[in-house]
Amino acid sequence: MGERVLVTGATGYVAGHCIEELLRHGYAVRGTVRRPGDTAAVAHLRAIADEVGGELELVEAHLDRDEGWDAAVEGCPLVMHVASPLPIENPTDEEALLGPAREGTLRVLRAAARGGVRRVVQTSSVAAVHYSGTPEDHVCTEADWSDPALTPLYPKSKTLAERAAWDFHASLPEAERFELVVMNPALVIGPVQRDRTNASVEPIRRLLSRAMPAVPALSWNLVDVRDVAVAHRLGLESDVAPGSRYILSNGSWWFRDVSRVLAEAFRGEGLRPPTRHLPYPVLWLASRFDPVLRRILPDIGRQRIYSSDKARTELGWEPRDPRQSIVDTGRSLLDHGIVTP
Ligand code: NAP
Repeated sequence: MGERVLVTGATGYVAGHCIEELLRHGYAVRGTVRRPGDTAAVAHLRAIADEVGGELELVEAHLDRDEGWDAAVEGCPLVMHVASPLPIENPTDEEALLGPAREGTLRVLRAAARGGVRRVVQTSSVAAVHYSGTPEDHVCTEADWSDPALTPLYPKSKTLAERAAWDFHASLPEAERFELVVMNPALVIGPVQRDRTNASVEPIRRLLSRAMPAVPALSWNLVDVRDVAVAHRLGLESDVAPGSRYILSNGSWWFRDVSRVLAEAFRGEGLRPPTRHLPYPVLWLASRFDPVLRRILPDIGRQRIYSSDKARTELGWEPRDPRQSIVDTGRSLLDHGIVTP
């Protein structure tokens, strides 16, 4: 069995795929969960571990509590800190999001330093990159940082959490300093492993189930969750990764083009993803009653550009065709009964 990796937030969408990637590459995995009694939330991971004969252990730890983190880290030379709140709807109390993101990161990293961990790969986001006040045609790279004063709540949580990680890392005496690598994924899509969606797959669910009858002029930078998991593993293994952040994006897609790919793939199965344009005034009106639409309103008509050249050249990261990611997302939503024809 390979080295043991602690993965935080094992019940999550991204962490689930990271755990699968690790188990399939021979690592032993210890995952943290908030509700150890909820076996249904991790049944898919148990099944993968059984299939590959891998070692999977689950322990309780909460980002908003101190207890549990030292025990979680013990015996793990490697850590993937993936957990962080990614709510579909923003909480009214900002600290409910900022606290687990920023203080939770510090809890994990302090335990890693105390436990003699060798390397930590942390999941940040392009949300910690692009709110920098740069013009729309600026190609965002790892040199860009979001300004917390310019960001909505979730990007603020990711910016503060990543800043906290680098600052804490820099403050450690050299002898206690683990290696730190940060991944900054764009909007993550790709197959769900269990019968729940998360915030980033939700728009595809809405298109596929026609919960959205027309398509807003919204553009996404997409990345497949399986490719995000590969990048996290490469982040653990690469000799050159320590000290770097890596943007993980596989190009910008307009919503209408995503919906067209879905329509082509699933029309024959009784699904009718919309292809008509949703005019801004209608969207604005609908957003008064829908918090998800309210959140996307400032992005209407805007297209951001990211470079993932660093991940490609330094890590040898090769993301798959985004069309495949879109179709596989839809297929998994059908397979898990989240969308029904
Ligand atoms: P997700 O499916 O909602 O998973 C979030 C995970 O964090 C869950 O396991 C959740 O546990 C855990 N968590 C939340 N609050 C916690 C707390 N207070 N204590 C302990 N665990 C807590 O979201 P995801 O898409 O996989 O996101 C995972 C990471 O990727 C996050 O850091 C997110 O910011 C980052 N990311 C995601 C995207 C994207 O498009 N999805 C893009 C860029 C970056 P429960 O199951 O118990 O709630």
